[in-house]
Amino acid sequence: MRANTRAGRNKVEVRDVPDPRILNGRDAIVRITSTAICGSDLHLVDGHVPTMQDGDVLGHEFMGEVVEVGSGVGPDKLRVGDRVVVPFPIACAACAAELYSCCENSNPNAGIAEGMFGHPVAGIFGYSHLTGGFAGGQAQYARVPFADVGPLKIESDLADEQVLFLSDILPTGYMGAEMCDIQPTDVVAVWGAGPVGQFAMDSARLLGAAQVIAIDKEPCRLAMAERAGHTPVDFDEVDVRSRLLELTGGRGPDKCVDAVGMEAAHGSAHISAYDRVKQAVRSETERPHALRQAILSCRGGGVVSVIGVYGGLMDKFPAGAWMNRSLTLRTGQCHVQRYMKPLLERIERGEIDPTRIITHTLPLDEAERGFEIFKNKQDDCEKVVLKP
Ligand code: NAD
Ligand code: ZN
Repeated sequence: MRANTRAGRNKVEVRDVPDPRILNGRDAIVRITSTAICGSDLHLVDGHVPTMQDGDVLGHEFMGEVVEVGSGVGPDKLRVGDRVVVPFPIACAACAAELYSCCENSNPNAGIAEGMFGHPVAGIFGYSHLTGGFAGGQAQYARVPFADVGPLKIESDLADEQVLFLSDILPTGYMGAEMCDIQPTDVVAVWGAGPVGQFAMDSARLLGAAQVIAIDKEPCRLAMAERAGHTPVDFDEVDVRSRLLELTGGRGPDKCVDAVGMEAAHGSAHISAYDRVKQAVRSETERPHALRQAILSCRGGGVVSVIGVYGGLMDKFPAGAWMNRSLTLRTGQCHVQRYMKPLLERIERGEIDPTRIITHTLPLDEAERGFEIFKNKQDDCEKVVLKP
């Protein structure tokens, strides 16, 4: 089959790879009809996640048709022909307390992750050997472990484009807003008007925020947020903290969401780890990093919700400000399964329109171009959907 693979730092390539097979009774094979490129893929291709290897199949946002099920997946759970959206964390039924993205049973390399994070993390599709080395879904087919638990059946006639993002970024944006514990008078500021940020903004509005502020520097992304009713702030044009104080009567936003993550080093192809640290320190003084700025701007006693992904050398954590300003910090890889059904119902009721962020639909074979325009924000790119 054809699949999009990592081909070196900041490079991907669509190649022929072996078709996936059932390896375990609880697996299913899905023929993929739609899949997407995510900001997290940029981190994986950038070299921030050292255990992502060349040749690994990318992609953790996908949906399609079940073409084979293992002997351990009962017909009440999943049958050949079912149309499913597959959540990115591979979680098992033993997941307690709905902390699906912390599942310890789905990651055969949990020990490696434990060394880095102090605790095992769940298996994730197309997301390096740190999270199990599972082949991703930017491909024609994918093997889905624990298929009796994760995949959400779509039984209505909603288009792929309306439900695909239930696999990751819609629940992630929603969780980012939900972690803010939003009150009706709250002003919520969201750093990053990428796909995840846009859904965090829409979700903050759905959860009752009085005003939602979108912070980015990409004109098309800010305009997209403004069209959806959010207040744009261009961090290239204004001092963000001063503008936020102005917009909130001098208090600062009640709730802040970091939907940026390790953005600082994207695009820095072929630089050493040492240069990357130097670059990070420089960007720290020249342009405050999103998470830092969120912690420093949030009103005292507010909540900072972090859904941007961090790791390795790119952590920028101002513990002093966090402590002295009595902030609550919440974060996590998204517990996607927890949110899929309620968000599907919101889509069906017309409360949220996930299609509003799609700017590009390309054949899988053009994944390389998709990565380029998404990474470099060319051609007003917000979100790329690939069609295998
Ligand atoms: P993206 O790269 O398309 O968007 C990031 C946006 O942040 C860009 O528009 C960029 O211009 C903007 N930005 C950069 N620096 C900024 C700053 N200092 N202030 C404000 N904005 C800034 O990525 P995306 O797909 O929207 O994903 C966003 C983040 O969410 C990534 O880190 C991704 O890994 C993460 N993510 C987390 C989860 C989870 O489960 N927690 C799931 C999916 C994605
Ligand atoms: Zn993603």
